[in-house]
Amino acid sequence: MEWSKEALAELDQVPAFVRGMAKRAVEKLAREEGADIITPNIVLKTKEKYFSLLGKEKEGEKKLTRIAVVRCHTVAEVCPGVGCLKAFAHRKLNFQDYGSDAELIGFFTCGGCSGRRVSRLVEKLLNHGLDIVHLSSCMCMDDDDYPKCPFKNQIRKTIEAKGIKVAEGTHH
Ligand code: SF4
Repeated sequence: MEWSKEALAELDQVPAFVRGMAKRAVEKLAREEGADIITPNIVLKTKEKYFSLLGKEKEGEKKLTRIAVVRCHTVAEVCPGVGCLKAFAHRKLNFQDYGSDAELIGFFTCGGCSGRRVSRLVEKLLNHGLDIVHLSSCMCMDDDDYPKCPFKNQIRKTIEAKGIKVAEGTHH
């Protein structure tokens, strides 16, 4: 399908890691609209959809606070994460200071000792506007049921090295 020069310039504004996917989406929308040539307007319409999924604000919009939770891979064998998710949804306990302009964009396990996939997954979330990672309560508690994660400080440093803030705890 033919693209105008201006439409291609608009497409160039889309982050490179999703540009191919965005291009296919633009062409799909153009076909649905019966367009012969892709104009900037069709690109913009498609970008709106993609930006809302990517966690990017439109110009002039207030930035949301984007949060991820990393939790213990071992504990996740027996815990579906209800406590963490409910605490965020209801802005309780360690999420009580967040307003409606906060969204949870990631909820993942560390991948097993010593937190082998934290670096990779935080890296992915940087593309989605990540601001802060909460270490789940199961990583931070220290009692008979939940011995403290021995790699907690190392995991914290890994995240902070990427310029992302770390908060300890979710629902305890
Ligand atoms: S690194 Fe810590 S959080 Fe991850 S599995 Fe081991 S004990 Fe659990």
